[in-house]
This record gives sequence, structure tokens and C-alpha cells, in this order.
Amino acid sequence: MSTKRPLIFNPGPAALPLPALERTRDELLDFEGTGMSVLEVSHRAPAYEKVHREAMALVRELLAVPESHAVLFMAGGARTQFALVPTNLLGEGTHGAYAVTGHWSKCALKEASFVGEARVSVDVEADGTFVRVPDPAEVAVDAGAAYLHLTSNNTLYGTQWHAYPEVDAPLVADMTSDLLSRKLDVGRFGLIYAAAQKNLGPAGVTVVVVDRALVEGARTDIPAAFRYASFLAKDSLWNTPPTFAIHVLRNTLAYLADRGGVEALEATNRAKAARVYAAVASRPDLFTLPAEEGSRSLCNVVFRGVEDGVEARLLAEAEARGMVGLKGHRTVGGLRASLYNGVEAAWVEALAELIEGF
Ligand code: PMP
Repeated sequence: MSTKRPLIFNPGPAALPLPALERTRDELLDFEGTGMSVLEVSHRAPAYEKVHREAMALVRELLAVPESHAVLFMAGGARTQFALVPTNLLGEGTHGAYAVTGHWSKCALKEASFVGEARVSVDVEADGTFVRVPDPAEVAVDAGAAYLHLTSNNTLYGTQWHAYPEVDAPLVADMTSDLLSRKLDVGRFGLIYAAAQKNLGPAGVTVVVVDRALVEGARTDIPAAFRYASFLAKDSLWNTPPTFAIHVLRNTLAYLADRGGVEALEATNRAKAARVYAAVASRPDLFTLPAEEGSRSLCNVVFRGVEDGVEARLLAEAEARGMVGLKGHRTVGGLRASLYNGVEAAWVEALAELIEGF
């Protein structure tokens, strides 16, 4: 490559493993011996179907998805799922229950209210602008809840659920910013969705893992393009899928599987997060960590300067060392290091050293 690759801490779209990008480049002009690019072949062509099925099999393998659950590839990002979940799952006399733990769960709640009845199950905003997730025991649902929706990792606030509630309704989780960052008991969830652009691959494809029984019981009086059942029945080849995004997803997941799968990813991610938290905590003269200790995220480390100017100085110094993406979300401010699967341990070490020596 002609230009030096930065140390990428972007919140999403985010760093992808370089070998997955190189493979994508190498395959770009002659896809599976067709002489054409993957961008040019039909989604019905055997060459594409092979990649599609490989990508699905990799999701199943890496997440240990049980037979009871199906894997779907959909377009439209996580925000589209905010609407599709209630559209499919809310029926007469039922409601969606929502755990409000940050910006994205608030958005999910609002979208559901356009479709049917959405009730707040628990809301932790008042406890200090989303500095924690609830204890599972705090979470309850009313009778008639079709599901309990939660955001497993709050990308903007750097908080993450480390234990999930047990309630009398299927769990639906937006795992956009932590799916495949750590081990997961998929069978505990009715439905999981994750836009791919953080831990999994590129923007453009959303991975949905759903209990087949939930799809069977879902509404049928909604447009076909909005039904999970349409995608399930045709292995997500019901209409033209985002073929290139799925191709890059396949290449990323194949690389992550080769690196040892989810156990290895979790060990690396825990070490990366521990390194950055420790570095920030070693400089109480300069920085604070707003998220409560038991709620801290492995994927997004959020920290703040104790006085004016500290954050801007750190960002300038980071930029001089080739680091990008460390500015906090515009609505939250502060600093944020996103440490997804594509973020290399050496980059994290460089960031930790910068903070310690600042
Ligand atoms: N949920 C979470 C947890 C997110 O982090 C994001 C994006 N940062 C979204 C939803 C929105 O995703 P999209 O842009 O794919 O709709």
C-alpha cells in the first residue's frame, strides 16, 4: 500500500482486519473464476450463492447458533430493525417492552411507538446520563409483552450488559456494537440483530439471528419486504441482497474464524479494553471514566478530560501519531476509543502509551 495505514479507532464503520481487505482486493476483478467482479454477477449465480452460504455458515459457526434459530442477511441497517421488530412481532393487545440504556434504545422505543404500543420496562438515564446498565433483577415486563428489547452495548456511552434479564417474554437485542466480540448464549434470545459495520464486516448488511418459532408466529398482514418470514423462506435471497457487503462479511468472518473464533476474539478484546481502561485510570489528573465499573464496555471505552482543553490536546497528539476516530459522539462529547475485532492490539498499546505519558 502506498499510504501508511492509520491506527483506526472509528466507532463504525470501523477498522476491518487488513488480511480480509487484501483478500477482497485480490478477488475484486475476477470473482471465483467468473472473470467478472462480485459487483457484476447475479445474486442467483452459483459463484455468488457459494459466498452467501459460506457467510451464513460462518455466522452459525462463530456464534454457535442452535438449530432452533435462523440466520438472515438484510439491508437497511440497525435503524430499520428498530421498525421491523415491532412491525413483525406486535399483535392485537400486546406491547413491546424496552430497556432504555442509551441513545439507540431510545430510538428503538420511539420507532416502536409508531407501530404499536411500546412501554418502558426500565430507564437508567436519570441515574447519571446513562452511566450504567440495569442489574438484570431490576428488569420486569408487564403481562402482554410480546418481547423485551435491549441494546447489549451502548456505543455512545461505553456501557454494556454483562448479564441478561430473565423475563416472561422473548429477549430481542440490538447487538450492533458487540455481536461476536465475546461468547454468547444465542439460544437465550428470541431475536438478535446487528448492523455489520463494527465487529463483523462492512456497512450495508445487517445480520439477524432469530428463533424460527418467533418468525412462524409473526404477523403476515404486513408488506412482504418487511417480513422476516420472506427472508427466512428464501435463505435471504428473496430479493437482491447487498452482495458486495456480504462478500466482505464472508472474508472478514473467515479471517476471524482462522484466528481462533469467538474465544480468541473475546480474550483479545478483554485484554485490549483492560489496557485502555488501566491507562486512563492511571491518569486521574487528566481524565475520568464516566461509566460505572460493572457496566463498562469492552468495545467502546468512553473517557473525558477533567478540564477544558485536555481532550483537544489528546486528539491533536493522537492525530500526530496516526490515530483516528477518538472523538466522542457529537451528542455526548468527550473521547471514545472503539476497540472492535479489527482493531489491532499494537494500536491499543500505542494509545495506552500515549495516555500514560501524556
Ligand atoms: N444501534 C447501535 C447499538 C449502534 O451503535 C448503531 C450505530 N452506531 C445503530 C443502532 C444504528 O445503526 P445503523 O446506522 O446501521 O442504522
